Amino acid sequence: MVGVLLAALALLAPSPPRAAIRVELEPGLVVSLDEEQRIYLEAAPEEGEGLWAFSRRLCGDSAASEAIAEANGGLKRGLHAGVRYRVPYRLLRPELMVSVARSLFGEDLAREDGWHHTVRGFGDLARENLWRVSQWFTGNGQNFPAIRAHNRLIEEELTAGQRVVVPRELLLPAFRDLLPPSSSPRKAVATALVTALATEPAVTTEATSRQEATHPEAAPARYQLEYRKDRGGEYAVYRLGPGEALYSSVVVRFTGRLLAEDVNALAKEVARRSGILDVTDIPVGYRVKIPFDLLLPEHLPAGHPRRSEYEAAMAASARFGNQVQALGLTGVTVILDAGHGGADSGATVAGVWESLYVYDVMMRVRQLLENYTAATVVMTVQDGDRVLPEDRDVLSFSRRHRVLTTPPYPIETAAIGTNLRWYLANSIYRQQRKKKVDAKKVLFLSLHADSLHPSVRGAMVYVPDARLRAGTYGRSGAVYASRKEYKEAPKVSYSAKNRVQSEGLSRDLADDLLRAFRRRGLAIHKDKPIREKIIRRRQQYVPAVLRYNAVPAKVLLELCNLSNEKDRRLLQTRVQRQKMAQAVVEGLLGYYGEPRRELETLQVAEAAR
Ligand SMILES: [Zn+2]
Repeated sequence: MVGVLLAALALLAPSPPRAAIRVELEPGLVVSLDEEQRIYLEAAPEEGEGLWAFSRRLCGDSAASEAIAEANGGLKRGLHAGVRYRVPYRLLRPELMVSVARSLFGEDLAREDGWHHTVRGFGDLARENLWRVSQWFTGNGQNFPAIRAHNRLIEEELTAGQRVVVPRELLLPAFRDLLPPSSSPRKAVATALVTALATEPAVTTEATSRQEATHPEAAPARYQLEYRKDRGGEYAVYRLGPGEALYSSVVVRFTGRLLAEDVNALAKEVARRSGILDVTDIPVGYRVKIPFDLLLPEHLPAGHPRRSEYEAAMAASARFGNQVQALGLTGVTVILDAGHGGADSGATVAGVWESLYVYDVMMRVRQLLENYTAATVVMTVQDGDRVLPEDRDVLSFSRRHRVLTTPPYPIETAAIGTNLRWYLANSIYRQQRKKKVDAKKVLFLSLHADSLHPSVRGAMVYVPDARLRAGTYGRSGAVYASRKEYKEAPKVSYSAKNRVQSEGLSRDLADDLLRAFRRRGLAIHKDKPIREKIIRRRQQYVPAVLRYNAVPAKVLLELCNLSNEKDRRLLQTRVQRQKMAQAVVEGLLGYYGEPRRELETLQVAEAAR
């Protein structure tokens, strides 16, 4: 029986906080909630129980003893019988955590879609807010924007009696395990994903439509937007949250612009429209106005023609996920491409050349694929005679890259280098098809590193937008005409069905790659990590190496943003590049149905060869 205690039952450790409420959980265990909405379990040591054993009993681990000591003023003299000590809620064993939450929040319900939390009143004392709710049930306060969005709330403060749903995907495992099984099998995937990410902030997975469930990484985050109209036209209103900036939280997120000059230009435009005079000093909650023509389609109101068109395209491509299994990548051909090279250094920031670093990652991917999988690896470029990763952090300069066409093309002109890559990839694909290799067992992966607005971090994957690949295309000129791959098929065009299928497979592949990146703890672009096109200077296009490429599953992976200092610093370390390569290979394995695990535990290579 749980009841509210009017008086403390035992002495409390030094400097007790004024508890707003105390509830007895069982004899010797008291739950308290203080004015700042912090939850503790107050417990007395059992006879002869020291701090370590106390910590193990309540937290499942003696490692929590330090944090327990800290919560009780240091505990220099050990534990005393008859005294209750506070154990912070977050340290508790999962079952105990659930019991504590249930004792305080008796009206909460475990439902299929998530934990239905009813906000308690606690008299005049501190009110619950979304940050705390997020902490209690997801283990991380930073998930509050996702909860706010899921519940379509505007305020962070909550009122007594209000119902807040913490979505299944965000819940701590102890709470999620109490939910009735989800009817959508694909949700389990999203759940596993978010668990892997327990320390990462704010993943919104409101899996409502099919494509979101199929491609959780591609699911657009849901934000609370209001839609309005004035003399200037239709616009969306977004209220700035604490710590949010106009560049990263409005322009990058809602307009999809990433290039620094684009982001800055649009930030100015949005500021003007919203009556903001100083973009560096916008109050929290300020209503920022974003004109409809700048919004990404997924952020337009439901039913808007541009959003409907986008959703239809997503749904169409989602029908083509990869169903082909190839454990250990048996029978799979991976066409590996590293962007730029030779005279084309790609993005260069603070002396770091994209061409050198992405090539090194490609060498690492190649090595791992050959050591741990049964895949056939074909490269599109080579730097001199270097086919192994460099054993150094900061890489040596080289301009000896050539595209491996017949004859090879020492890269002098960026565009020719790019075009010859897809001619080469198409030729390799044709050869494999002639050898009766399943079309779905050929992959094209191009590695790049971006130079974007410095606020943007992490990896991002481009997939080919089916709608932007119509028509017939081919190059002309002596440099092309002299190459075997060009002569085989100088012009390309793809049917609508082929393009839609390719987008679907590529999205699936992108999704697996990003999941592997997350599992390795690598940063991922936080707003829209899978993109079907590049938006730059008000133009939209699919990168050429994907656009004209015949391989069905093809992606261009931007490993990180060189203009972001942290990303740039990390890329200049062997450890990071190796991790990226491992994640890439694990992503490919995942795409072909290999159970998720660390690459090094894979034993297939020898057996399958
Ligand atoms: Zn590039």
